[in-house]
Amino acid sequence: MFVLVVNAGSSSLKYQLFDMETSEMIAKGLCERIGTDGLYTHQVPSKNVSIKKIEIAMPNHSEAVSTVIKYLTDAETGCISDMSEISAVGHRIVHGGPWLIDSVLIDGPDGRVLTDLRKCIDLAPLHTKAHLQGIEGCLSVMPDVPQVLVMDTAFHQTMPQKAFMYPIPYDLYEKHAVRRYGFHGTSHRYVSGKALEILGNPDAKIVTCHLGNGSSISAVNAGKCVDTSMGFTPLEGVIMGSRCGAIDPAVVPFLMEKENIPVEKMGDWMNKQCGFLGVSGVSSDLRDVRNAADGGNERAQLALDILAYQIKKYVGGYAAAMNGLDCVVFTAGIGENDATMRAMAMKDLEFLGIKLDEEKNNSKDPTVISADDSRVKVLVIPTNEELVIASDTWNIVNQ
Ligand code: ADP
Repeated sequence: MFVLVVNAGSSSLKYQLFDMETSEMIAKGLCERIGTDGLYTHQVPSKNVSIKKIEIAMPNHSEAVSTVIKYLTDAETGCISDMSEISAVGHRIVHGGPWLIDSVLIDGPDGRVLTDLRKCIDLAPLHTKAHLQGIEGCLSVMPDVPQVLVMDTAFHQTMPQKAFMYPIPYDLYEKHAVRRYGFHGTSHRYVSGKALEILGNPDAKIVTCHLGNGSSISAVNAGKCVDTSMGFTPLEGVIMGSRCGAIDPAVVPFLMEKENIPVEKMGDWMNKQCGFLGVSGVSSDLRDVRNAADGGNERAQLALDILAYQIKKYVGGYAAAMNGLDCVVFTAGIGENDATMRAMAMKDLEFLGIKLDEEKNNSKDPTVISADDSRVKVLVIPTNEELVIASDTWNIVNQ
């Protein structure tokens, strides 16, 4: 009755083990520096097991998975007696392209599912190659355990074509699959689903704001995504920690020429040197930027103002796109924790029916933060992407 959720990066592998009878996470950890010296972190909260960054050689992802299984089944550090207790593995997949549009069971190493995933290497090379290494690692260590893929892009597949199509020559869209895909889909799906429960209205029109190091905003109408701010890659949309978000595409060749930046460095520039970091010059971490702004740093304040302003524009734009608005949800590191950003983004939106309750917004564990007479409910809902992956995996293997 246990599901292992795996999030594989090129040199890292994060995992959480869920007991599906209770939907509780019972163990979690992280393999880092796979392929170099290897660092291992493992926690079982109920047994007070907490192993932090010990050195264990993990030359490849298979060795990393073997390490995870060893620690999960060990009498002292573990919480299950045998690997056979793991009913299934759920893999977080960043990009499913137009091919993997729903959570799906892997049909063997050379089956259709992994063939489709390999096609995504073109769209998200680093992430997809890393996912494939993680999957191969799990298949080699646990060949008889069913493996499920859960895509970050899947929830956004319900967008109408007018929302996902870029105005480029149609044949290039068809040839290269260049379109808006959207990301953080499991998070938008989870928090919008929770919001529908809280509202008691399955037809509600919701804007979900996932604000973390990477941020995205989605329009969700009656549980279906109709638009989202991230695009072909997770670079589009609002200002992020170190990503620029949407800028005029002409800025890119202009700066490449002026600053002599080669094409292979430009991706790094847009992803790692812009956003909060680029504007403030302080940090990509909102807490540092806020501290600097509170200390009088005007550029830090500007970075925060940009985010709040852009959130506001998305909320207004998506309300128009959905012909109404019942609820705004905040989630992820910034959305769940930074009351000031929530207040800044929701300021002066009374005309849309949004009125924040300052006290509720500043409370320790906020849920409903709108005023009682606010027509639009504003909610803070902690996201849980791993639980979505575990539940999808469990449902698929029990079909
Ligand atoms: P990721 O996209 O990497 O999953 P997170 O969802 O963890 O990111 O969000 C990271 C962001 O959340 C950082 O900018 C961080 O400063 C911010 N954050 C985390 N905790 C707090 C907090 N208590 N108050 C304000 N901001 C926070």
